[in-house]
Amino acid sequence: MTAFNFRFDNTYARDLPGFYVPWKPATVTAPRLLFLNRELAGELGLDAAALDSEEGAALFAGNQVPEGAEPLAQAYAGHQFGGFSPQLGDGRALLLGEVIDHNGRRRDIAFKGSGRTPFSRGGDGKAAIGPMLREVLVGEGVHALGIPTTRALAVAATGDSVFRERVLPGAVLTRVALSHLRVGTFQFFAARGDLDKLRQLADYAITRHDPDLAGTPDRYLALLRRVAERQAALVARWMNVGFIHGVMNTDNMTISGETIDYGPCAFMEAYDPAAVFSSIDHHGRYAYSNQPLIARWNLARLGETLLPLIAADESEPATAEAVKQATAVIDDFPAVYAAALLQGQRAKLGLQRAEAGEDEADSALAEDLLHLMHGLSVDFTLAWRRLADAAEGNEAPLRALFGQARKLDDWLTRWRERCAAEDAGADEAGAQRAQRMRRVNPIVIPRNHLVEEALAAASDHADLGPLNRMLEALRNPFEETAENARHAEPAPTEVTAGYRTFCGT
Ligand code: AMP
Ligand code: MG
Repeated sequence: MTAFNFRFDNTYARDLPGFYVPWKPATVTAPRLLFLNRELAGELGLDAAALDSEEGAALFAGNQVPEGAEPLAQAYAGHQFGGFSPQLGDGRALLLGEVIDHNGRRRDIAFKGSGRTPFSRGGDGKAAIGPMLREVLVGEGVHALGIPTTRALAVAATGDSVFRERVLPGAVLTRVALSHLRVGTFQFFAARGDLDKLRQLADYAITRHDPDLAGTPDRYLALLRRVAERQAALVARWMNVGFIHGVMNTDNMTISGETIDYGPCAFMEAYDPAAVFSSIDHHGRYAYSNQPLIARWNLARLGETLLPLIAADESEPATAEAVKQATAVIDDFPAVYAAALLQGQRAKLGLQRAEAGEDEADSALAEDLLHLMHGLSVDFTLAWRRLADAAEGNEAPLRALFGQARKLDDWLTRWRERCAAEDAGADEAGAQRAQRMRRVNPIVIPRNHLVEEALAAASDHADLGPLNRMLEALRNPFEETAENARHAEPAPTEVTAGYRTFCGT
């Protein structure tokens, strides 16, 4: 057996007994490597060439547990669509262990689809090729946009069948994350009233994600604030690229601030604040424009779990004070989020400087453009991208998107005035602005119809060509080239209108 050079150092297994169940991945029939993330392997100090082999396939399918791994199923709870489940946990996932990457960051390496565990409830513990490659495509797309996310290291086909609405080929995904700590992990121990474990978990989270807070007297309140800040920044980034997570349950919200669990997610095409693609989200709880509200709701759930740790003692006045302090953090969230959103919107608008008191006007400028997009069903990604062309005087592509809209003229006049105010007559300002805007307004996103096309080819016809070509295009989302032109085009509207995504498949 090749000793793949994972240099495991498993703090979760070592420091948190009672937070998991040691467990082995299921053995599969015929491992075959479908995807290997060479860049990420390198970051983790792994030999990609050695992993791209039969033995690598056996490893990533779960048949050959690498040396130093201590596979375990993590316990967690969670609010799913608002209803609380005191016990969820890794029902089809396993944490293999942690490695320190080239940047000195501790990264979890975990399987998804590696068989039943004590947390499987009625589930089969398995995953199908399509949804696991979907996590690859959308996750790598999100990563290339510079947004914090867990990443796919590998996908191996198992050669076994998975029974869903139809029989599907099975696969195991290997996922890399700053940690798999979730809001739901805290809820698991809070729901059991296990204060010691809760404190142990919070201190572990602090060591891992906010080491500067370790040992400070107000660290649990500070942890809540940090998680809120990370989530505000994350959701603002999602909103500014039109990403809809689709299933923001508290078990799918990380403490690290990374995007996790690419299930029924999708990128918006025509701008619509009410956009929702998930087949089970009947009431639009996780619709595009609800994402910041849900993030806040989830953070309130995290805050509740931390109250007994925030309180100085168990007395009523101390508890009341803790509630007050935690509530203040949650109440700050909308302003923190709004600032992060506006910062991103300014960059999208090509604005660099803001005088005191300009926030409201700049925010209105962005919102009014979105409003125009909504009224005319304009593609969100292309509208922003073509605004960059307009910045250097080429308005035709933007006008083509908005049709004969007189309202666009009015908006453009306002925007040009705002730009001129910070340019002070510099000749090169337009071209420089366009360049800056093209670094934040992508031309390539994972287009839903192309995602489906690539997954169908891989899953139904064992053809990885479309997937690999799409990954190639997604790697450089800000470059407009002849090769990626196909990946820049919106789906035909009739395709988007009927587009549905599925959860937990
Ligand atoms: P998810 O929707 O993937 O975030 O999963 C929510 C919960 O359902 C987690 O506890 C998962 O481990 C569990 N789960 C999802 N799919 C399966 C499956 N096929 N078998 C067992 N558990 C599952
Ligand atoms: Mg999940």
